[in-house]
Order: sequence, then structure tokens, then C-alpha cells
Amino acid sequence: MRKLKGIRLAHEKRTAESAFVTLPLPQKVLIPMSMHMGAPCEPLVKLKQQVSVGECIGASDAFFSADIHASVSGTVTAITDYRMPNGNYCKAVEITSDGLQTPYSELKPPVYTNREEYIAAVRRSGAVGLGGAGFPTHFKLTPKNKIEYLIINAAECEPYITSDDRTMKEKQQEIISSIRRMMKMLEIPECYIGVEGNKPEAIRILTECADADPAITIVTLPPIYPQGAEKVLIYNITGRIVAEGQLPSDQGVIVLNVSTMAFLEEYFRTGMPLVSRSLTIDGDAVDRPCNVTVPVGTSMREVLEYAKCRFDDVSRLIGGGPMMGLGLPEYDMPITKTNNAILAFTMDKPATVTACIRCGRCLNVCPLNLMPTSMEQAYRKRDKAELEALHMNLCMLCGCCSYVCPANRPLVESHRLAKDFLRSK
Ligand code: SF4
Ligand code: SF4
Repeated sequence: MRKLKGIRLAHEKRTAESAFVTLPLPQKVLIPMSMHMGAPCEPLVKLKQQVSVGECIGASDAFFSADIHASVSGTVTAITDYRMPNGNYCKAVEITSDGLQTPYSELKPPVYTNREEYIAAVRRSGAVGLGGAGFPTHFKLTPKNKIEYLIINAAECEPYITSDDRTMKEKQQEIISSIRRMMKMLEIPECYIGVEGNKPEAIRILTECADADPAITIVTLPPIYPQGAEKVLIYNITGRIVAEGQLPSDQGVIVLNVSTMAFLEEYFRTGMPLVSRSLTIDGDAVDRPCNVTVPVGTSMREVLEYAKCRFDDVSRLIGGGPMMGLGLPEYDMPITKTNNAILAFTMDKPATVTACIRCGRCLNVCPLNLMPTSMEQAYRKRDKAELEALHMNLCMLCGCCSYVCPANRPLVESHRLAKDFLRSK
């Protein structure tokens, strides 16, 4: 089967051999009530309330949302408005740690006897896609259609990021057990774990751990960006096309991130919901690139200090990978459930943007065969009909088109704004 197009990038996976380090407990955490796609949560706590680790402190009545839990034990010292990296605001709960990390007394491994109880337990865990998208996990587990394939996204195709790779090396048993548990409860007959070929050790470890189980196949994917984009991964593994407006489940597929699977198994064994985050810290302004584990809500500044970031040299701070991550405006922002990396880079020579020279490179690399130049022009005219005709909503914002453009056209930025424009209509 022919694979979708993409681009070859320098992998820069220099933290691949850096095991996760658990950092000292922060004095305070700031926990945003929106760390997922879907409805934000409402704080369930009051000022000066004592909380324990794993206690639910934010929830929403909406099914398309994810509960939020205290990541440290201590006292609620502020409930404040918080400006997220995308410019929107949500509530956030500040907890001052008592240093004890007392677990919430009512936590215990969830008991379930059927599919509905299993999904309800996943919902209570606060699980979201840990690859960066933050899609509430329980929502994915309630499809209308019969699911034939569970695909585990372990591609980790963005440069620099190695947190999934480390999880595969350190938590292989949890990953395979989690897959088996989910396949059994959702009656899914086959699972594919898609890993880029630049992670041979993770592939070897998972293959050994799966122990020739005929229901679980580890697929070695070519290291071509954006191999980990959901639509690309589904096509490259199953040959199925998720059309515009469809969900993967409409094609009989559920895709979940590999670190999400590892977390779910730990949750089912201990009852502890999602309260910590493991992530990669890297970039040329960082002297100690590393993988760390911290409580959700820890300040990025503390993590960057551990990584020996040269703050005065930083010109670009990115949450996530260099291709699809979001620029961060400041250091004193909390690490959220979806932060799989923080990258700090020194000054690049500013790129000069010139007129499109119609070279066609952007068309040649787009994995979805979209027309980036025409989309940019249609957005400039705010032409809704034209944007729809060009299938703007299919764009994954992968950035391949911008990356190859010799005229340095800000194509992906234009596409992001165009998608917002269509949503607002
Ligand atoms: S950002 Fe959109 S238009 Fe550009 S290559 Fe990716 S999918 Fe295609
Ligand atoms: S790659 Fe850049 S210069 Fe070439 S056609 Fe696309 S937008 Fe124009």
C-alpha cells in the first residue's frame, strides 16, 4: 500500500536515552480548568480548602470534557482567571503544597464488570490524549460503530520529543496490559501499535512484551513527518480514509496515544487519576536536555531551571514539538496534562517573507493533497465558500507546507486562522 506524503526532518532525539527524572515537589501548582478539548471544568473547591492528591477539584456536566484532580496535597490558595497559550481564558486553581503528598482517602482501584462501568471508570480518571491533542479518552471509547482496530499512536514524529519513546522503554508491561484490558472490554479484535523506525529499542521491547500475541501487531513506520497525525496513521496502517467531518470510529478505528495507555493501566491498578505529566525538555537554549515527571500545574520555569535553560538567550519557547506546538508567551505558565514537551530555542535569523513563486513544493508535500497556496489566498479574501471548496477543515496544521516554502510564506499560521474563521461562521 502506498504511504501518504510527508517530509523528512532531522530527528534531534538527543534525550532518547534520558530516563524520566522525578523533580522535587513544587511549592505551588496552578491547575487550569481546561486542559482538554471540550467543555472546561468548574472548580469544585473553595479558597482555603484542604485537598489531597487525586481529589477531584474540577468537573463538568458535559460528557465531552475531562475531570481535573489535585496534583499535590495542601491548601487552595487562589481561584483565578488564567490566560491559556491560545489566548482564551479559563478558571485555574492554585494549591500550595504541604509537602506531604497525601493521597485522597477515597481512591481505590476501580471495579468494573462490564463495558459501561469500564468507560465510566476511564471518565473518572481524567484521562485525555497525552500526545498533545487532549481529546477526552472516555469519549473515544463510546463510538456509534463497531470497532475493528485499536491503533496505538507511538509514532512520536515531531523532532526533539522523546517522552513516548521513554514511556515505551520504561512502561512496556503497562502498555501491553492496558491494550489487552481495553480490547477485552470493548471487544476489539485487533490492535496495531504504530512506531516510527527511528525507535528500534522501543520496537524490540514492545515486540518482546507482546509475546507473539496474534491480536497485537507492532508496525514499524517510516520516519516521515507527520506519521503520527491521526488520519495519516490510520491510512498508513489500515488503508482506511477518514473523510472530512468523520471521526476515526466512523471507519471502525479508535486511535489512542501510547502514554495514555500506560497511564490508564497505572490508574486501573492504583486508582490514582491523571495528576502528573512526563515530558521532554530540550532546545538549543537548554544545557541539560532531559525527560522529567512533575505534578500537573508545576511552573514551566521550575522545569526549565532544572534543565539548565539559559533564559537570557531564549527567543522562542514552544509547548509541544517545533512543527505543531504552540508558542508560549512566558515561563510562569503551568504544565498541563497535554504538555509532552517544552522546547527553548535561541534566536534564529528572521526569515524574509516574499511573494509566492508558484514552485508547487507545498502541494507536493501535503499528506492530504490540499492546496495550501489557494487556501492562503481564500483566507485573505475571507471567502468562506472557497475555503470550504478547498476542504480547509481537513487541514491538520502539520506545517509541512510552511516548512518547504522557499518564500517563507506563513501558510500554516494562515490555515490556523482560516479554520478559526470557518468555526466562527
Ligand atoms: S498544514 Fe495543512 S495544508 Fe499544510 S501540509 Fe499540513 S495538512 Fe497540508
Ligand atoms: S511552496 Fe511557497 S512559493 Fe512554492 S507554491 Fe507554495 S506558497 Fe508558493
